[in-house]
Amino acid sequence: MIGRQHMGENKQDFERAQRVIPGGVNSPVRAFRAVGRTPRFIREAKGDTITDVEGNTYTDYVMSWGPLVLGHACEEVVRAVTDAARKGLSYGAPTGRETELAEEICAACPHMELVRLVNSGTEATMSAVRVARGYTGREKIVKFAGNYHGHSDGLLVKAGSGCLTGAVPDSLGVPRGYAGETLVAQYNDLPSVRELFEVNRGGIACVIVEPVAANMGVVPPEEGFLQGLRALCDQNGALLIFDEVITGFRVAYGGAAERYGVTPDLAAYGKIVGGGMPLAAYGGRQEIMSVVAPLGGVYQAGTLSGNPVATAAGLATLRILREGKEKIYPALEEKGAYLEAAFRAAGVPATRVGSILTPFFAENAPKNYAEACGCDTAAFARYFGAMLDAGQYVAPSQFEAMFVSAVHTQAHLQETASAIAAAVAAARR
Ligand SMILES: *Cc1c(COP(=O)(O)O)cnc(C)c1O
Repeated sequence: MIGRQHMGENKQDFERAQRVIPGGVNSPVRAFRAVGRTPRFIREAKGDTITDVEGNTYTDYVMSWGPLVLGHACEEVVRAVTDAARKGLSYGAPTGRETELAEEICAACPHMELVRLVNSGTEATMSAVRVARGYTGREKIVKFAGNYHGHSDGLLVKAGSGCLTGAVPDSLGVPRGYAGETLVAQYNDLPSVRELFEVNRGGIACVIVEPVAANMGVVPPEEGFLQGLRALCDQNGALLIFDEVITGFRVAYGGAAERYGVTPDLAAYGKIVGGGMPLAAYGGRQEIMSVVAPLGGVYQAGTLSGNPVATAAGLATLRILREGKEKIYPALEEKGAYLEAAFRAAGVPATRVGSILTPFFAENAPKNYAEACGCDTAAFARYFGAMLDAGQYVAPSQFEAMFVSAVHTQAHLQETASAIAAAVAAARR
């Protein structure tokens, strides 16, 4: 590509990494295996762009997989982080900033009365499920095929043929007995949930759901789905957990709960809530969260939980979003809609909720995991390669979201729209 150096540094860095890191990466999707390319090793990023070690700059639609709704290296966030870092990296003792961040979360999400800060979305969902079990005294949980809630044992399962009585593990190393406590339902399919409640009467602690599924590509909830889950949980004495790790502060300031007007009992937040630092949160009604130690008997702890540098990034991010929300969220919506229109114009069905979207290389956009699995992933890989070569950094998998930020410029969005038209044509060849 003109003006770009190709010295092979990405390849060299990747080879070196593979000698000491499994697959050369610290999270599997980064390895670009599904698209057969060499991952870009990143040197730096600013605003809506990311630059690799060879000096290639891309318009970024991965945005660290969701946290960077304000773009890379947002001035105010970086200032908050550097100011905090100078005063100590970790204390292992409480700080006022943790309270301020918890207050921001509670004010944004009225169902959140008590919040516990943790370090990752995985921890947040795992802990919320433990609270649900501790509170209800029941052991089984319901999740949906194709919903991702991090990599804790009990949540790393998908539907097996015997899904009415328990799922099979999605990973080696997950005990079958443990996964068997997880029942798997179909997304956007209330009868599949009702059936699990009937077969396991009085045994289900909670239903955990991505209120907008975003880990099988973006699959929006159909009209009435979330309301139906709320009603089923109420009828059966189970708790409803929203995994808002992607949707929180993204699809609306108050997340999917605000956007769809459905109130969960417990919710998990991550990604945006940490402003690009390792921080996540879970919480819910006071009465339920009072089972968490030291108030109650559900144990959950963390050496770096509520870390002063991470809370500085999260707090700065949430404040900017709150103060600017009347402008920021409509703008995110508009930018998302612009890219959605570009995919549709190219003849690819695209799903979108606010600023997260996915083009599906299929006849129709999927409504659940089984339909998502029918996509033409080879066509997606060709599309991905063409986008990368055109300076567009999108997620290297059909089953991920494209993330638009508040700082994506009109000029870059227009370039991306042109690249989409060409890349879709290339994918079809
Ligand atoms: C990313 C994600 C998680 C896991 O968060 P980590 O910080 O990667 O552990 C959980 N749930 C959803 C919906 C996610 O997208």
